[in-house]
Amino acid sequence: MAEGKDIKKALDDIVDRKYTFMHICGTHEAAIAKSGLRSILPDDLKIVMGPGCPVCITPQGEIDAAIEMAEKGCIVATYGDLMRVPGTKGSLDSIDGDVRVVQGVHKAVEIAEKTDKEVVFISVGFETTAPTVAAALLTNPPENFSIVCCHRFVPPAMKYLLEQGEAQIDGFMLPGHVCVVAGYEDYEKFRVPQVVAGFEADDILLGLYMLVKQVKEGRAEVENAYPRAVSREGNKKAMEMMYRVFESHDVDWRGFPVIPDSGLKLKPEFEKYDALKKFNVEIRHVEKHSACICDKVLRGVADPTDCRLFGKACTPQKPVGPCMVSHEGACKIWALYNQKR
Ligand code: SF4
Repeated sequence: MAEGKDIKKALDDIVDRKYTFMHICGTHEAAIAKSGLRSILPDDLKIVMGPGCPVCITPQGEIDAAIEMAEKGCIVATYGDLMRVPGTKGSLDSIDGDVRVVQGVHKAVEIAEKTDKEVVFISVGFETTAPTVAAALLTNPPENFSIVCCHRFVPPAMKYLLEQGEAQIDGFMLPGHVCVVAGYEDYEKFRVPQVVAGFEADDILLGLYMLVKQVKEGRAEVENAYPRAVSREGNKKAMEMMYRVFESHDVDWRGFPVIPDSGLKLKPEFEKYDALKKFNVEIRHVEKHSACICDKVLRGVADPTDCRLFGKACTPQKPVGPCMVSHEGACKIWALYNQKR
């Protein structure tokens, strides 16, 4: 397969009916929007975003727990994207407590090393960030450091989407960054066309072409269109480190019910770093009440522009839902790059 316009022509030639593919990565959505790819795809080829933004899928109950930590006098440290995500009592940037933006867990540990106060890191992300947090905990951070573990795995959410069948997906473009760390062996159990794709426009076009080809040929397997970064086994050392510290558990995602084995929690030997236990804070399930349809956007059954608040009551400057907050959120990306179907 050659590049650029050759792939585009091959895609035009091969699309013979309606196809819908889902990617599960905010970086893919941003790349599609920035490059204007949707405007040049064949009309019958639709690519939707699934639950690929780790900030967006963090439920309100976890934001509320982070706020409670700050209210109890802890220094709360987390990524900038999480600051404006609304919980039921506001967002981290709207409260009086000591809440600090950090680039990663190591910066939160540095804060703890320089203070006697308790420092709580709100630890979100998929398989991409969890190993870095595990690495930090394996270096024996100070006793005044702990985390709220909000990590989640991608494959169980895919399993849920496939079992539900709500989004009528013909195949999945697998998340390149996640697969760099986790590999793609775990996805081979799903009997659906899947392609691991990179983040250049040509990578995404090639991924889409390979997905259509699989469907047409009646195959349902995992193909790797991103071999320059991704291998089947991934980064084994990183995954081993992650499983030394964490174990899977059942957890809900924003827009999803409880998905079995889809989250990470600290193993008993690392419980001293569990901020929920240390400060006796519970994560409560919160029912959705607003007109925000992030839940549907995250399940790939609605576009951001289907939301009646999009661009009106909800903008990147005044976000109502998490998908308008995060730079990996579909609503923010569609608003910034004027995406439409
Ligand atoms: Fe939620 Fe705003 Fe997106 Fe609507 S536009 S789904 S309110 S984030």
